[in-house]
Amino acid sequence: MPGKPFDVSLGIRHLVCGSCNGCEHEVNALGAPQYDSTQYGYDIVASPRHADVLTVTGPMTEAMRDPALATRDAMAEPRIVVAVGDCAIGTGAWCNAGSAGAGAGGELDAEVHVPGCPPTPDAIIRGLHEAARLLDLRAGRKR
Ligand code: SF4
Repeated sequence: MPGKPFDVSLGIRHLVCGSCNGCEHEVNALGAPQYDSTQYGYDIVASPRHADVLTVTGPMTEAMRDPALATRDAMAEPRIVVAVGDCAIGTGAWCNAGSAGAGAGGELDAEVHVPGCPPTPDAIIRGLHEAARLLDLRAGRKR
């Protein structure tokens, strides 16, 4: 289990942008006792207005493009988008298939990328740690 390097809690809004749901199984596992992301102060929230981090999965379907952009833009700054899984990064099995795009992370300007098909919960937590580090930097805290 990766340790938490920064004293920053995170509200996380999760968005499915055409995932096969494999990545969602791993995101859902963050709340399981084995991983318990709340021990780091990482909580899934219902509204983007309460979120510091937007996690996204999938290649970005046409139907999700506008809602996804609206969700990201509803978040206050500073905010971080985390691309979870190969499809969101742009290298996954569903990228450019049918109406699917080339990766939700690219369209939403993701700054943190968690590779894997699907990535493990530990890998996702490490990505959230990286998001916390970036938010900590933007808050201008001295260490
Ligand atoms: S990265 Fe793999 S598990 Fe995740 S949405 Fe794409 S195909 Fe599914």
